[in-house]
Amino acid sequence: MSLNAAYRKVLDGKSLADADIRFLVDLPLDRVPELARLAHALRLARFGDQVGLCAIVNAKSGGCSEDCAFCAQSSRSTADGPRHPLLPARDIAAAGEAARARGASRFGVVASGKTVTARDFEGFVEAVGLVAGLGLAPDLSPGILDRAQLQALQRAGLQGYHHNLETSASFFPSICTSHAYDEDVRAVRAGIQAGLHVCSGGIFGLGESWDDRVELALLLASLGVDSVPINFLQPIPGTPLAGREVLAPLEALKIVGVYRFLLPDAAIRICGGRLPVFGAGDGAGGGRELLASGASGLMIGDYLTVRGGDADRDLADIRALGLRPEPCAMGHMPHPCIMDN
Ligand code: SF4
Repeated sequence: MSLNAAYRKVLDGKSLADADIRFLVDLPLDRVPELARLAHALRLARFGDQVGLCAIVNAKSGGCSEDCAFCAQSSRSTADGPRHPLLPARDIAAAGEAARARGASRFGVVASGKTVTARDFEGFVEAVGLVAGLGLAPDLSPGILDRAQLQALQRAGLQGYHHNLETSASFFPSICTSHAYDEDVRAVRAGIQAGLHVCSGGIFGLGESWDDRVELALLLASLGVDSVPINFLQPIPGTPLAGREVLAPLEALKIVGVYRFLLPDAAIRICGGRLPVFGAGDGAGGGRELLASGASGLMIGDYLTVRGGDADRDLADIRALGLRPEPCAMGHMPHPCIMDN
């Protein structure tokens, strides 16, 4: 087994055997640059030079019934952070407009909670319509939706449904005990069956093993999700994981590279936690390294409860790699960030 042999297999559309996957997982960190180079080649072969840029708004914050150990909004968290009911649709649209000006082509409306109240649902429908009217692809991360809700939102213009599985089924009970993993898997399946662009991934550095990481990747591949967000734990004071160390940069790049090999057809988007892992000092947050290691997209701007990096710096890194932001998913051209090129 060699890295090149695994690369050729994936490039040729063949599945990796268990032994291939074990080889990738066991690669020492000093071989991560080699893994990253081949993962980047796989990403170029599948997605060309385009980089997906998305942004989110924390549309409803805090007070969640669930107990996810990493989350500042959970029932177990005593973290300071924003707490507010669902923002008015016009405020959500204003945040979308600002994200579009920074270069985003997808805009995610994110709300805390496991499910959606009837009142909030009406707000989501209105917000989705307004965001679609801006020429952005509206995505929603509202918790678990049923089929009728998904269809109503699609009629309003919803493009994407975002529901992270967070980690493997095996490790999930160590992270969340307030609901069953299967409920999340069913939600992802419902989004796919509805024909939505489904974005589902996880958060890394929770204490999970490499076996857990592979288990999650293989499940996401079998579900056929379009997009896999990768978050790195940013330990937040007041949460049960406050004392955990952040991942080492090479470990984070290895996760991205291995995920590219295991999910060659999925967009891999780097979301929260890259600043603490790669250093926030110059505002770069590892954007260049991550996009040269198999990632095909970045979340730009702020995250849910913590500040993000410098979107202009991300655009500069994208150009420095010879890549370019993808056009708006709604087909409205030219997109502002393309015009800058
Ligand atoms: S991750 Fe989502 S479901 Fe879990 S506690 Fe946070 S807001 Fe609630």
